[in-house]
Amino acid sequence: METQVILNSRHFDLTLKRLCHQLIENHGDFSGTVLIGLQPRGVNVVTRLKLLLEEILDKPVQCGSLDITFYRDDFRRRERPLIPSATNIDFVIEKKKVVLVDDVLFTGRTIRAGLDAMLAFGRPSGVELLAFIDRRFKRELPIQADYVGKAVDTLSEERVSVEWQEIEGEDKVVLFTP
Ligand code: 5GP
Ligand code: MG
Repeated sequence: METQVILNSRHFDLTLKRLCHQLIENHGDFSGTVLIGLQPRGVNVVTRLKLLLEEILDKPVQCGSLDITFYRDDFRRRERPLIPSATNIDFVIEKKKVVLVDDVLFTGRTIRAGLDAMLAFGRPSGVELLAFIDRRFKRELPIQADYVGKAVDTLSEERVSVEWQEIEGEDKVVLFTP
């Protein structure tokens, strides 16, 4: 197995900060915007973005998490049942701008399911997508991110590992090639 660090902790931090400034450019002080992280690992991205955004804006930013298990298009095709994570959206998204957030964008099927799951909570005035890592090739649906932390061209059999200081002990992104 070959491994390649594609974001070290310094670049990881710079990338998150840059994403915050891009978000602020489009959403101002976030008074009409909410961030929603897709479970499980999109939530880690939202947790960090929230910390940084609130530091910059000096006011709270509304954030939630969304589980898409039952909205997956392969839900009924699996041999073993999928175990859902928590959805936690304790605010109204009606007429709000929503930024959906995930750690890795690949085929686009998770985001398609996320859009479906989100609409159960109301009709936002607009939806954008933030992907911390965009695995550019092999998209299977016409879905692109509005904000990209880092784009990487990967083969299907490769795997990107997004690691967080609070979970894995260090902020970094590693590409594994079998
Ligand atoms: P998609 O549905 O776009 O094919 O895949 C995106 C979802 O699968 C994301 O929620 C992401 O967490 C996960 N995923 C896909 N490829 C990778 C990868 O290389 N590394 C990680 N960590 N997650 C991935
Ligand atoms: Mg995921």
